Amino acid sequence: MTYGFETLAIHAGQEPDARTGAVIPPIFQTSTYAQDAVGAPRQGYEYARSGNPTRDALQECLAALEGGRRGLAFASGLAAEDTLLRTVCRPGDHVVIPDDAYGGTYRLFAKVAERWGLTWTAARISDVDAVRAAATDRTRIIWVETPTNPLLNIADIAALAGLAREHDARLVVDNTFASPYLQQPIGLGADVVVHSTTKYVGGHSDVIGGALVVADPGLGDELAYHQNAMGAVNGPFDAWLTLRGVRTLGIRMDRHCDNAERIVAYLHSHPKVRRVYYPGLPEHPGHETAAKQMRRFGGMVSFSAAGGEEHAVEICNRARLFVLAESLGGVESLIEHPGRMTHASAAGSPLEVPADLVRLSVGIETADDLLADLEQALG
Ligand SMILES: *Cc1c(COP(=O)(O)O)cnc(C)c1O
Repeated sequence: MTYGFETLAIHAGQEPDARTGAVIPPIFQTSTYAQDAVGAPRQGYEYARSGNPTRDALQECLAALEGGRRGLAFASGLAAEDTLLRTVCRPGDHVVIPDDAYGGTYRLFAKVAERWGLTWTAARISDVDAVRAAATDRTRIIWVETPTNPLLNIADIAALAGLAREHDARLVVDNTFASPYLQQPIGLGADVVVHSTTKYVGGHSDVIGGALVVADPGLGDELAYHQNAMGAVNGPFDAWLTLRGVRTLGIRMDRHCDNAERIVAYLHSHPKVRRVYYPGLPEHPGHETAAKQMRRFGGMVSFSAAGGEEHAVEICNRARLFVLAESLGGVESLIEHPGRMTHASAAGSPLEVPADLVRLSVGIETADDLLADLEQALG
């Protein structure tokens, strides 16, 4: 029998400890393991960069939640991305990236990977024809975020999976904004799912981490080889904290969505808001695609302040309950100005974001309290 999402989140990879019966997988805070004889490590554990039972528990759980064959946990989302790039690509290869990619992803491609001979093109990934036009015969990866950060554009995962196959390229989906509860890209044809587990998967703003989940066990083996060879692994305590978070992912996401829907309805009719970006709105250009591939529309909301950039900055500075901070996906609500904060490194590039934009990571507090805070912040 196959279990439902919440059951997998609580049990996948998390059998009670064989020796003690500890219900929660212990934190195996060790760098090495005693061996019974030369060349006879116990259950394959030799050295903790290569393998750690706490990390294994998280990896198995994430693979189950994404419907993939293998999960790999890293020190951060960007460490996962870097390991993936250097596993799949060679100098001279080409990658298509979203023209509104997460700022750190853009920086990894533009400022780091490019120096190693990787070429890239930024394309509007909500437009399959634009992605087709950007792809070349050297394209190895089509990189997708959906919804995107911070404009919440939607890419059609199934259509892009078809396009990737035509080019013999891999479709990589950064599923950080949706989480596996709202969207499972592998079932739609993606080859690799990327997560910053720092965000919704961990969910409590207390740990940095990243993950890859793959459909193909062969690619899984190659990535596991590079995970060990490059060494950017998730530590045992970080893996334990992330697992503690992931057990409540389903109920947290539902409350994030409930609160975001209330806030979107409020902002949508507010005279000091010029435009609301949320894929749940029927007028959002990606609404139909989002409705097809997502369970609900998520906890991220962006909006344009009617008074322009200065007004957007004022709103961020005036918010009290919404904490002014980068990052997203935690139980507490956050507010930020992408142009001057998370996306400052994209200034002057094709990925520059509108200056009047405010981004909200809507938390799971009492919705009325969040609305009252926005009311005073909008002025
Ligand atoms: C935060 C984030 C990343 C990078 O993850 P880190 O854990 O900060 O390294 C990648 N993609 C998206 C969409 C993100 O929000």
